[in-house]
Amino acid sequence: MALNTTLKERSNNSCELCSNETLELQAYAVPPKSNDSAENVVVLCSDCHDQIAKSDYTNVNHWRCLTGSIWSEVPAVQALSYKILGKLAGEAWATEAIESVYLDESVIDWANAEDELEASKVVHKDSYGVVLETGDNVILTQNLNVKGANFIAPKGTMVRKIRLVPDNAEQIEGKIEGDTIVILTKYVKKSV
Ligand SMILES: [Zn+2]
Repeated sequence: MALNTTLKERSNNSCELCSNETLELQAYAVPPKSNDSAENVVVLCSDCHDQIAKSDYTNVNHWRCLTGSIWSEVPAVQALSYKILGKLAGEAWATEAIESVYLDESVIDWANAEDELEASKVVHKDSYGVVLETGDNVILTQNLNVKGANFIAPKGTMVRKIRLVPDNAEQIEGKIEGDTIVILTKYVKKSV
């Protein structure tokens, strides 16, 4: 996103993390927010932007600039600085910067939102580690004692059009002999 007047003025036409004035500047929306408002974005130089886009924080010395930017009055800059400092937690100065600043809880929540979203994603995998999707067909890799129905579904049984159990990566649902039952993903293999 190109910089509008508000952002140009707010940033003094420089990178809001490292203060670079010579590289090309662009507006970066701090996830999970979108770039539809100046409050959601940080003005970044191409150097900062490229490293953030690649989630590459190995150039530790570059990020020392965050010890300054974390004190910004702009919540988006605070959130992004906090987030990157968190990735540099092995560095004593980064930890110190996080601990010395007071940030609003909403800013910290914002900074952590993307990682939390990532961590909470439930991925279902079969016994071979292949990702399962709703609608897949699977084959039982061992005899399954169907509780309640009082029968054993033999190894090799095809279960068509499974449904993923939300919030539980270890369970899927499928129909065996007309009954919908919960099956553990470790006992199935995705059928191709
Ligand atoms: Zn920069």
